[in-house]
Amino acid sequence: MELNELYQDIILDHYKHPHNFGEGDSSFTNVELENPVCGDHIKLMVYLNDENIVKEVKFTGSGCAISMASASIMTDELKGKPLSEVQQIIEDVLGSMRGEKAAETLDEHGDLAALKGVMKFPVRVKCATLAWHAVKDAIAKSKRNT
Ligand code: ZN
Repeated sequence: MELNELYQDIILDHYKHPHNFGEGDSSFTNVELENPVCGDHIKLMVYLNDENIVKEVKFTGSGCAISMASASIMTDELKGKPLSEVQQIIEDVLGSMRGEKAAETLDEHGDLAALKGVMKFPVRVKCATLAWHAVKDAIAKSKRNT
């Protein structure tokens, strides 16, 4: 398989023009994670409101196209959704990346389907899941604070 297949148009587009990229203010809960295998670094910020809606998801950082595109796609997918739904999506994505859930699970979540090609490359899975582990931690941290 050509590496090109990994870098589909959707992934490259999100990498070049990341969505929701930037710092949040003091109302956000921050989590920073690294993937030393590849050198990816991400700072993930969430704002969970009083009604348990994930109002904002933002990120900054640097890394390979897959790590940054996955974060960008994730922010689009989670932003504005209720916490219960967000937690379900996170479990779906991490589950399918780990091979515990069908890859087709990702088809239900917009541009996430573009990440299906990554699953064949275990080293790349760490890149793709970095943002998802970070958002999971940020939500857990945010809930403790409220
Ligand atoms: Zn990477």
